[in-house]
This record gives sequence, C-alpha cells and structure tokens, in this order.
Amino acid sequence: MTPDEIRAALESNWLDRRDRARLEALLAVQPDHGRSAHGAGQAADTFEHIRIEGDRGFIAATKRALALLRGTSGWATMRGIARVRACDTGLPVGGALIGNTAEFEPSVWRGDAKFYASSLAHEGVHAAGADGSRDGERACMTVQARVLRELRADRATIDHIERHAANPTPFHTG
Ligand SMILES: [Zn+2]
Repeated sequence: MTPDEIRAALESNWLDRRDRARLEALLAVQPDHGRSAHGAGQAADTFEHIRIEGDRGFIAATKRALALLRGTSGWATMRGIARVRACDTGLPVGGALIGNTAEFEPSVWRGDAKFYASSLAHEGVHAAGADGSRDGERACMTVQARVLRELRADRATIDHIERHAANPTPFHTG
C-alpha cells in the first residue's frame, strides 16, 4: 500500500481495531513501506473469483493454498474475499484484512501451505464480519483450526491454533 492508500483506508470506518493498529504502525514505520508490492517482478493471476497480486512465488503459493482450502469446509469463507495480496511490513502480523483484500506476510505464504490455507480462511471469517475483538478472533481461529484438522496439518500447528481459539487475544499475530 502507498502512504496515500494507507491514509485513505484509515479514514474509512470499516476497519477493525487490528487493521487500524496495523495501518497506523505501517504509516509510522516508513512512508514508502510496501513499495515492493508494486515493483518489478510483480504479477497478477486469479483463482476462482479471487485476484492474486504479488511476485510469481507468491502467486504459486497462494494458488496452492487456495486449492487446498477449496477442498475443505473453509472454502465458503472466501465468498467475502476479492483479492489476495503480498505484503512485507516487517511487523509480526502474519495476515490482515483490508476491505475485501487479504494481505499476507512472507512468514505465512513462504511457510507451510496448509497453514497458509487456514490463514486464508481466518481472514475470510474477518471478511464475513468478525472484528479484531476476542470474540471475533475466536470465531476466526475456530474455523482456522477446523481447516487445519480437515487438511491433516501437523499436530503442533493444530494445537497452536486451538490454544489461541480457546484463549484468543485481540491483535493476534498470524
Ligand atoms: Zn484475526
């Protein structure tokens, strides 16, 4: 996002607290942070109704994760997602939802594809109305854990998300 895009987003009223905190931090850290998302090597593709924007590695990883998610009950959460985009804020946020765009840090999309698939579902639940409150995050992480179980993700990953779902904190990381 450009600084102007960040400011415009901050002026809108659909941001949840987590999105707002993230954007404010983003604006504070460095005015041109995020430029890499618009630079050389960038491309776009689609998967079903979802536009994917990032470099080739991001697009390949995202299509793979969406294909995994499509085989689970979590696919329904993608109804509210129009776009998935790479970001690199350097902040420990993992993923975020901005309007109907889900953004993911390299720590998520370069990692385990099943976890990335479940993170897409997490942001999809936010897109369906769950805010950044404890209850909102509980709803997101409950679906996220279910997706991980359906994908037979490794036990440690499932346990990690189930622990957070049982005791959610606002402004979670990932
Ligand atoms: Zn969340």
